Amino acid sequence: YQKKQARSTVGVFSKQMDKLYSYELRLKNELTQSIEKEQLRLVFQPIISSKNDEVVAFEALLRWQLDEENIPPDDFISIAEQYGLIHKIGAWVLRNACLQASQWSSEQPLSVCVNVSVIQLQDENFIAIVDDALSNSTLPGDLLHIEITESVFAADTSIISNQIKRLQARKIKVSIDDFGTGYSSLSVIQDLAINMVKIDRSFVNKMNTNGHAIISAVMHIASSLDFLVIAEGVETEAQARELQKLGVHFLQGYHYSKPIEIEDIDSYLTNMTLDKQYLLNK
Ligand code: C2E
Ligand code: MG
Ligand code: MG
Ligand code: MG
Repeated sequence: YQKKQARSTVGVFSKQMDKLYSYELRLKNELTQSIEKEQLRLVFQPIISSKNDEVVAFEALLRWQLDEENIPPDDFISIAEQYGLIHKIGAWVLRNACLQASQWSSEQPLSVCVNVSVIQLQDENFIAIVDDALSNSTLPGDLLHIEITESVFAADTSIISNQIKRLQARKIKVSIDDFGTGYSSLSVIQDLAINMVKIDRSFVNKMNTNGHAIISAVMHIASSLDFLVIAEGVETEAQARELQKLGVHFLQGYHYSKPIEIEDIDSYLTNMTLDKQYLLNK
């Protein structure tokens, strides 16, 4: 009798679970072939220096077009990680991001920021993949930034620390993404000699309440521990001005530009103001 009752309760959940699971399975199966099918592409979001409002870098962001559907990275990156597909996808991202970045033409050198999953970072082939991406392009190592999500610090720090040292030996910069939402402690930032911290957009969003105090505290620590700070998710002029006042070094968000398709980057770089409206509407 107990069993029967249990089963009927489980039944309701398992139907929902089935749905979720089949969505996951579908994504997993499709994702396996996505590179060959050329369904993956990168878009690039500008990062602006708060000193002079000039573009100093672009963040590479992955897009997956599955038939008519655009699957957001927040949906498929975790699936790629679960099923071991992240290595192949991550290597593709690194190779393409470096190749694109080495072709951008501007008077100032432009960096490219690449998101790297912790699973990828811990892989023993990771450094070889980075070296391959750099040597396949003409991009110097010091223009490559690796963004690691803060959850990294829940993982084994000795492996992570070793990998970060190997990256930095190649002059590659390392930043913590989504800072303030995860597990990193200040001592870890210092121990790992992190070059940059990206304040999560949730703090930029609530700058009129406690976000302001938090960002201000981060800036104080940044100057004593000697790391640079990027604010992500800057959506308004008021936010940009406030962040500038707080001394945040770099700004990124829809206020400046949405992520840009590869074929539009050159015109963005040559005529930032003209294209801004067009890009916002895109
Ligand atoms: P992230 O690295 O924190 O990237 C920032 C996300 O915020 C991007 O979403 C970007 O489009 C969005 N964004 C930028 N400016 C604004 C703004 O002003 N307002 C709002 N509301 N959002 C803004 P996206 O492209 O959907 O990426 C989501 C996450 O997926 C990324 O977060 C990153 O963790 C992951 N991801 C993306 N591409 C890759 C990749 O190539 N490899 C790995 N491992 N993860 C990736
Ligand atoms: Mg990022
Ligand atoms: Mg982020
Ligand atoms: Mg994020």
